[in-house]
Amino acid sequence: MQEEAPAYRTTIAVQGTRVHNLKDVSVEIPRDKFVVITGLSGSGKSSLAFDTIYAEGQRRYMESLSTYAKRFIAQVEKPDVDFVYGLSPVISIEQKTIARNPRSTVGTLTDVSSYLNLLFATIADASCPYTGEPIPVKTSGNIVESILALPFDTEFELLAPIFQVYGEEPKFLFNEVRKLGCRTVLIDGERVDLTQEVPQALGSDQELMAVVDRFTLVAGVEKQLKAAVEHALRVGDSLMTLRIVSGMNKRDSQKYLREFGSKTHGLVYGDIVPDFFMFNNPESACRTCGGVGRDKQTHPELLVTNPERSIRAGCFLRDAYSYKPDNHAGYVLYSLADKYGFSLDTPWSDLSKEQQDLVMYGTKGELLQLKIPPEAKDPKERWLRWPSNFQGIAGQIEQHYRWYRQRGVPSSGMEDYLDRVMVEYQCADCKGSRLRSTRMLFRINGCSIYDLGQMNFDELAPFLSTIKPTGPHGQAGLQVLAEIRKRLDLLLGIGLDYLNFNRTSGSLSGGEAQRIRLSTQIGSGLMGMLYVLDEPSIGLHPKDNVKMINTLRSLRDLGNTVIVVEHDEETIRSADHIVELGPGPGIHGGEVVATGSLKNILDCRRSPTGQYFSGAKRIDTPESRREANEKSLTIRGASENNLKNIDVEIPLGLFVCVSGASGSGKSTLVNEILYKELWKQLVDTRSLSGSHESLDGTEHLTRVIN
Ligand SMILES: [Zn+2]
Repeated sequence: MQEEAPAYRTTIAVQGTRVHNLKDVSVEIPRDKFVVITGLSGSGKSSLAFDTIYAEGQRRYMESLSTYAKRFIAQVEKPDVDFVYGLSPVISIEQKTIARNPRSTVGTLTDVSSYLNLLFATIADASCPYTGEPIPVKTSGNIVESILALPFDTEFELLAPIFQVYGEEPKFLFNEVRKLGCRTVLIDGERVDLTQEVPQALGSDQELMAVVDRFTLVAGVEKQLKAAVEHALRVGDSLMTLRIVSGMNKRDSQKYLREFGSKTHGLVYGDIVPDFFMFNNPESACRTCGGVGRDKQTHPELLVTNPERSIRAGCFLRDAYSYKPDNHAGYVLYSLADKYGFSLDTPWSDLSKEQQDLVMYGTKGELLQLKIPPEAKDPKERWLRWPSNFQGIAGQIEQHYRWYRQRGVPSSGMEDYLDRVMVEYQCADCKGSRLRSTRMLFRINGCSIYDLGQMNFDELAPFLSTIKPTGPHGQAGLQVLAEIRKRLDLLLGIGLDYLNFNRTSGSLSGGEAQRIRLSTQIGSGLMGMLYVLDEPSIGLHPKDNVKMINTLRSLRDLGNTVIVVEHDEETIRSADHIVELGPGPGIHGGEVVATGSLKNILDCRRSPTGQYFSGAKRIDTPESRREANEKSLTIRGASENNLKNIDVEIPLGLFVCVSGASGSGKSTLVNEILYKELWKQLVDTRSLSGSHESLDGTEHLTRVIN
């Protein structure tokens, strides 16, 4: 007799679950199928899917870990269920937004950022920061080899270009260069000894090169030279060049340098690795914002909270400035008003623009001779001895902030203070790219890594197909491209064509975050898993819902069980198996009303879902709708995100629905513009709303609730 293979379990059997309102429910769910658990709100759907099946699967997985590993994870309580048979490792994909961390983006979530970094390190073309000419990318070993090809006894210097730091004086930069062990800098070719006097100001187009080391090429110098080249690359942010001092005539040395590096400067990039493009690496991150892409700045509107008051009467936000005739700042402001001919008693809004700017941004280097305010109770003559340099109220706060950032020691008190007097803007240094400007010199088909991240997925896909990697790393480049392509196709397939890789995770809706996680799960290609999802249709336009259902099916076709908690008719109709809980909410629910295929549900008289689907019951469209009253809100010129300068009128006193395809700008219009502007006008004037020209009709409202 032929021996039969042992039969595998084909179902997940839940026996006697009493979690929350579930009434000792026992149910069998087929494995490797697309299963929908439905029912009225509060009927116990989530209690069955998440709090029983997922929780028990998770608990048993944890149980299987060693005692040592268990010390590092929170223990999960055993759900109130007799037994669950046939469980697989379970993964839940919920609606919650994943990370509020500003360093998390769609790119890092999907791992595509790492592949983009790798792609740029492999096949990007580099160009010169001064002239835009192409610069070769080599390894430090290659660089040492070509230096060793110089004639013996040639004397040369290793130079590393250095770049000015945004918002800092030259002194700061030169100090940093000295800390790296260089004491000489060439400014436009002119030697400056850093231990002596250094220039106070630099033009933005001046070329700065640090002299890193000086060599004479003799036998046995290789090891030392290699270390020096590596150090030069560190000083020059992966860029370096040579200067031939003696031992070669001018023509030969120029010819040599042209072959060594770029045409004009003989610059060469060395040891470019993927981390060079990673904004979460401190060496590559923008120095102003530290790789967050946003930076705090002062905002005149926020600092002057009472423009109808004068400076003396307290027009400023109290934390920013309040006039006291007896402190030094009081002397300064009194003397400023005296010198420039305005009064501290004039309401702020009546001061001229020039006078306001003087108070806000200072005298721009012009020194101020201090005077004692007549109302000072305890005049301090010693403060008058030196003229004062006034940076303005906003200027002082910003300088304070930069100093705080550079010190690098976070303090919550300081953060709170800064939050009150400053607002977050796109970082002015990196323009939101999060990376140092030298990273933008690497381009593929004319686009930097930031440009690629800004492209919406439906633009990025055709762009990627135009990339034809050639050269020594062409083959490697093709493989990386294929990996990016694979992940991008999954994101497109799930209806996220309007997102881009630079979007921060915090700005994603719960549904978008869920779909991204879903796409990474499919990308992982695991089989034999049990996935539990929470209403994936929420927030989806019907056209995208079809894509979502297809994605869930492909997850099943990989060999997984997919359990979805869902109300959506189309999803329910697409399921292989349906479990309906009910019949009512809360204590009236908690029982299995119907289970089986769609036909079983339709035939079941007790099933509300079946009754509605089969048309036995329906929700009528109301015959009469409420008349609009005359009042309305009008948003004009809305242009935040992808909104194209639109005007929208919203009638008041009605139940209004804003509809449109996913990513069409519904949330931007309602949350970013309408809600935030109402909040600003009705509650807190310090908030900033999305870009629009005006919002009329707020006089009809007294409150806004989110
Ligand atoms: Zn920045």
